[in-house]
Amino acid sequence: MDERAEYPVNRFTTTLNQSVYPRLPLLLQNAACTASGFIRHRARFNRHFHRTLLEWTEGEDRSLEELHELQRTRLDRLVRLARDHIPYYRDLAPPSDKRDPDEAIRETLASVPPLEKREYRDQPLAFLSRKSSRARLYTGQTSGTTGSALELWHSPETLAEEYATVWRMRRRVGVDIGDPCMSFTGQMVVPVQQSREPYWRTNYYGKQTLFSIYHMTPANLRHYIDAVHAAPGRYVQGYPSSIHLVARAMLEAGRPLPEGKLAAVFTSSESLLAFQRTTLEQAFAAPVRDRYGVSEFAASMTQCDRGRLHVDMEFCIVEVEVVEESEDFEAGPLLITGLSHDAMPMFRYRIGDVGRRARKACPCGRPGDSFLEIDGRTEDYVLTPDGRRVGRMDHVFKQQWAVAEAQIVQVDPGAIEVLIVPRDNYDKTSERSVIREIRSRLGNEIKIQLRLVNEIAREPNGKFRAVKSTVGRNEP
Ligand SMILES: [Zn+2]
Repeated sequence: MDERAEYPVNRFTTTLNQSVYPRLPLLLQNAACTASGFIRHRARFNRHFHRTLLEWTEGEDRSLEELHELQRTRLDRLVRLARDHIPYYRDLAPPSDKRDPDEAIRETLASVPPLEKREYRDQPLAFLSRKSSRARLYTGQTSGTTGSALELWHSPETLAEEYATVWRMRRRVGVDIGDPCMSFTGQMVVPVQQSREPYWRTNYYGKQTLFSIYHMTPANLRHYIDAVHAAPGRYVQGYPSSIHLVARAMLEAGRPLPEGKLAAVFTSSESLLAFQRTTLEQAFAAPVRDRYGVSEFAASMTQCDRGRLHVDMEFCIVEVEVVEESEDFEAGPLLITGLSHDAMPMFRYRIGDVGRRARKACPCGRPGDSFLEIDGRTEDYVLTPDGRRVGRMDHVFKQQWAVAEAQIVQVDPGAIEVLIVPRDNYDKTSERSVIREIRSRLGNEIKIQLRLVNEIAREPNGKFRAVKSTVGRNEP
C-alpha cells in the first residue's frame, strides 16, 4: 500500500533528512519542513490537478454506464500508447471494438496476462514510456509489502490525478486545501536522538503540524496529547497504527478532542482495523475516512459514510481474482490497472492485496465498484528499550536494492532480528546501509541482528508480514 504523504520524493528532502537536517536548530528544521511543504504543494496542486478535481467533482452524478464509457476511452488510449511507446507492451493486442463499454473493457483486459511484481522489478525501464521525457518525471520508491524495493516513475499529471481522488473525498466531508492539519506519517521530522519535546515540526506554508511517529513512548505521548489539543487543525491524516497510539493515550488520559474541532480523520497506507477506527472516532470526535492507494499510482478507493471503499473509476480499474464468493461479495487478490499512468502504464498489476468486492450497490447511492474490505498491510510495532512503539518499519527497505525480501522479528524489547533474502549483489555495504536505516528510526540502543535466509514464510492467510513482534503487537 501507499506512501502518499511523502510524494514526490525529492533530493532536497532526502539530503536534508539524512545529514544536514538532524543537526539544524529547531527554527531551521521548521523552515526546512516549510520549504519542503512548499515544494510538495507546488508539485501536487498544479493546473491539471485543479482541472481534474473540478471535472471529477462535477461528474459525480455520472451513471454507471457513463463511468464505464469514460473508463473505456481512457483504457483504449493507454493500450494504444503502450503498444506504440512501451517496450514491454510492444506486442499487446489492440483494444476491443465491442460496442458495450463494460464488455469492451473486459475483453481488452482479458487479452493481457496479469503483471507480477518481480516481472516489473527485473526490468522497470521496459515499462517506461518512450514518449515521456525523463526530465519531467518524478521518481519514487516503494518497499512494497515484502521489503522488496521498486523504482517507480510518474508524470506531474498522474500525481495531480492521484491527488484529485484524495481531495474529492476530503471535500465531501467539508475539508479543503489550505485547511490546517495534523499529520502522522513516516517522515523523519524529529531527530531520533532527541529526548525532549517538541516531537513535532511545523510546515507553516501548508499549515501542517508534522508529528514524529518515531518518539511515541508512554511518557512522550502526554506531550503529543497537549500538542493535538493546542495545534490548529481541521483534520488529521496519516497511518492508522501511529494515530491509534495517540488516540488511545488521549482516551486513557480522559482527554478526547471536543466535538466539532475536527471535520475528519483521514487514514491511508495500511489496513484500518476495526478497533483503530473506534478509538480514532472517539478520541478525535470526528468521522474516519479511509483511503486505499498504492505507490504505483495505479489504484484509488475512497471511503463513503457507509464505510465502503469506492473505486475511483475515473482513475483506475480494479479486478478481483475470485477465490471466495457469496450472494453479497466476491473476494480474492486484486489486479489493478491505473488509467492515469501515462509514463509507466501497468495493466492488471498484481499488487499483493486481497479485497472483498460488494455485489450490491452501496446504500450511499454512489455508482460503480465498491469494496467491503481490503486486506492490505498490517504490521506490528517495534518496541524499543526506551519504550517507543514504532510502526511502518518497512520504510527501511525502500531503497535497499540488494534486498529481495525482508522481515523484522522481535521477541523482547532489547533486540530485533532482521531476516533478509539477499540478491546477488548483497554485500557488507548493503548490510551497513540496512543497519543505518534501522538506527535512524530506532536509535542506537537496540540490538540488531541480521540473518540471511533463502525465504520468508507467509502467514496462514497467505499475507506477508513485514514486522512480527510479540512485544509490540498491533492490537487493542
Ligand atoms: Zn458508499
